[in-house]
Formats: sequence, structure tokens, C-alpha cells
Amino acid sequence: MTWSEKLSTSVQSIAPSGIRKFFDIAAQMDDVISLGVGEPDFITPWSIRESCVYGLERGYTSYTANRGMPELRNEISRHYNRLYNLDYNPDTEILVTVGVSEALDIALRAVLNVGDEVLIPEPCYVSYQACTILAGGVPVPVSAKLENEFRITPEELEPHLTPKTKAILIGYPNNPTGAIMERRDLLKLAEFAEKHDLIVISDEIYGDLTYEGVHECFSALPKMRDRTILLNGFSKAYAMTGWRIGYALSNADFIGAMTKIHQYTMLCAPITAQVAAIEALKHGEKYMKKMVAEYDRRRNLIYDGLNKLGLKCFEPKGAFYIFPDITSSGMTAEDFAEKLIRSERVALVPGTAFGESGKGHVRCSYATSIEKISAALKRIEKFLLSSQ
Ligand code: PLP
Repeated sequence: MTWSEKLSTSVQSIAPSGIRKFFDIAAQMDDVISLGVGEPDFITPWSIRESCVYGLERGYTSYTANRGMPELRNEISRHYNRLYNLDYNPDTEILVTVGVSEALDIALRAVLNVGDEVLIPEPCYVSYQACTILAGGVPVPVSAKLENEFRITPEELEPHLTPKTKAILIGYPNNPTGAIMERRDLLKLAEFAEKHDLIVISDEIYGDLTYEGVHECFSALPKMRDRTILLNGFSKAYAMTGWRIGYALSNADFIGAMTKIHQYTMLCAPITAQVAAIEALKHGEKYMKKMVAEYDRRRNLIYDGLNKLGLKCFEPKGAFYIFPDITSSGMTAEDFAEKLIRSERVALVPGTAFGESGKGHVRCSYATSIEKISAALKRIEKFLLSSQ
């Protein structure tokens, strides 16, 4: 008998995140340029940090209501009303969580019974499949196609439907591809969800990082408000990854069920982060827009640069990732990433970390400075020339 045999079968069945391996290699080397991490290189804007300092000074060190501070829930409600004309009742339809990570976990646990299937367009964020399994569900990956700029269509989803299909889990703008879904694409998805009576879990953590046009909120589509569990947070748009603060919006039944799990497992999100999040929503938009403008500059640089090197990629329209096709190098994505970091000290992530359909691609994050992106492009050029 080994201790590992005593672990739950669901935990045994999930693999550690494929992103980690490359961080570990990078950590042992000097002078690595990382295009690997999905984290803003900005520090949280000062006014947001200051509000937390001031909150601590005033003695804000306690628990809060399980659902989150009323003032924060009111701000979130106002925010969605202003941006998307949506009305969420702060008392019953909003839950403040420990990042989108917690919101995703408890959304799945609140709605899935053992064996329920969840359609998950791929490539996708590393947690979607693992959290589905941990919630007792069965992830059903559905490949999105490069030819369609990694948008998903009902025609692609339809063959994967079974009587056990309970939900669809989407994330646009997308990590790792940078894809977005335009309104016409989302409307088709909404019709599909309605026709097959599916719950939609929509992770919109990158919604504010949309570079052309405006972000389309799934819950704002006709008849989708109550069918959708909308997840969002402060990590990306406000450069607040370490604060661990997010939220979920949906009908009172779904949010009530999620609150039950949250109250037994988290009790509440940290009060310091909630105070900061209030400030972010009240006064943070101008700082957020500045950061988004800078990501946009970097996006243009890396998009042109990679294409010039013969690493074909479509133009990402959201998030801060680009997903070049590296098959012209003759290497697999894993080989490409490993050889590149070992020979030229540029870290990126093989597309297969985001599902089988990421084969032949790597994910580059451009949440790093223009100087570093330029230097990384030169190193990649050298790598490609030397491996011909
Ligand atoms: N969803 C997506 C698509 C992400 O890329 C990430 C983090 O990289 C998360 C959720 C987790 O966000 P949070 O920091 O709010 O837990």
C-alpha cells in the first residue's frame, strides 16, 4: 500500500498544470525572458493599493458577509447595469469570491451531479477540465478550429451532446488563443443553449481586455441572464492577481447554492481585497484603460514580429495571449518550448497544456514590456535559424 493509493480517484485522474514545468525550468536559469505567465507585469494602481492601506488603518480586519461586502456588491451591480444594461440584485444574485478560480469551482459544484457532462470548447484555460472532474462531472472537450480563429460553433458542439449534457463552459476573450466571439457567434451559442436547455458558465475575466470593438457579455444576450453563471474578477484588468478577488452573477437559485458552498469552504473573500475592489470599480477605470492601451501596443508588436518570423498566427482580439502555429519549425509544441528555453532562454507554454487541440501551437503572453518582447523576438529568430 502507498499513500497515493489512498487519494481520491478524481484527484488521481487529473494531471498537474502543464504550465508549471516551464516555470520550474525558467526558475533555474538566469536571464530568461518570460512570455509564459498569464499575469499583468503592472503593479496594482496606487489608488487601489492606498484604499486597502487606509482600510487597514481604519481597522478593516474582520470577516465580511458571506456574499461579500454590501458596498462591493452594489458597485458590481451598478457596473453591470452601466456597461451591459443588466440588473442583478446585490442581495441575492451576486457572490464575491476568492478570484474567478473559486467562482469557477463552486459554480461547477453547485450545478453538477456525478456523471453530468460539460461541453468545453478547446483550447481552454487549464482549470476548466480539472475543476469539472473535481466537481464529479465529465468534461467533454470540443475542438475549436484555427481556420475559424478558434471561435466555437453550434455545429461543432452538436455531435457531442448526450442526455447527460448539463452545461457549456466558455471563456472569451480566450486564454490561450486570444480569440473573441462576436455578437453574431454568441447569439448562435445562446440559441443552442436554449434549445438544449444547457446552463452556460461564462468566464469573462478578460472581458475588459478587448482591443477592437466592445466586449459582448453573454448574460446580456436575449434570455441568457438567468441561464448563465457569469464569472469575472479583478486579477487581469486591474492587475490584482495577488489580491484573490472575483465574483459570480446569476439567478438567485444558482447564486444561493454557490453561496452555500462558499460559506462552508471560504466563509468570505478577504476584506482587504474587497475594500480594494470597491476602489477599483469606483475610480480604477482610467488606470485600467491605460494598461489596456499598453497591451494593445504590445499585441501589435508581437503579432507582426511572429508572423515575420514565419510563425503564423491570427490577430488576437482580446486577453493578452497570442497563439502562433509552430508546425513550420518541424517540432512538436513541447519540443519547441523546451528547446527554446534551454537554448535561447525564452519561456512560453506549449499549446497542448490547454488541451489536445492546442497541438502545433505555443502560447505567448504579451503581458510584459515592449523591450522584453522585442528581445524575445530576436532570440526566437536566432532559435529558428539555428534549428533549420
Ligand atoms: N479564468 C481564466 C481564463 C484565467 O486565465 C485565469 C487566470 O489565469 C483565471 C480564470 C483565474 O483568475 P483569478 O485570478 O481571478 O482566480
